[in-house]
Amino acid sequence: MDVMTKQQRHDCMARIKGKNTKPELIVRRFLWSHGLRYRINYSRLPGKPDLVLTKYRTVIFVNGCFWHGHDGCRYYRLPKSNVEYWTSKIENNKARDQRDRELLSKMGWNVVQIWECQLLPKSREAYLESLLNLLDGIFLESHSVKRYALPDDDDLAIAAENSD
Ligand SMILES: [Zn+2]
Repeated sequence: MDVMTKQQRHDCMARIKGKNTKPELIVRRFLWSHGLRYRINYSRLPGKPDLVLTKYRTVIFVNGCFWHGHDGCRYYRLPKSNVEYWTSKIENNKARDQRDRELLSKMGWNVVQIWECQLLPKSREAYLESLLNLLDGIFLESHSVKRYALPDDDDLAIAAENSD
């Protein structure tokens, strides 16, 4: 008898294929529920960012702490055997991540790197709120020139109205 429901089997397969991994889905659901829209796995940009928010000129990577070598993180621990192999593998991943981030910055993208451990239940909510603030800040900054550069006439009209 098959003990998995259809949904469980689907989730399981998704994990095995490495797509729609849970941490990435947490971020996507949160942003979507706050009205933010994005493209996923956009392969034409360096490093194939997990999420691309064109309106915010921001790309987001959701990185596993082990594979991407999260420094000082308790979830980044090298296996006890084949230490050299794992060290060089993960150093390579880190170097590639760094290169991709630099390329993206040069292209004018804001790069946000989210670590899996930041999405653990106890820190998730606070972290996602801070992400939202960060994105708001980026949006305001990139639109502030248009927003505040009013012609002088407008200032006068407001002043006249106020003195009434
Ligand atoms: Zn971590």
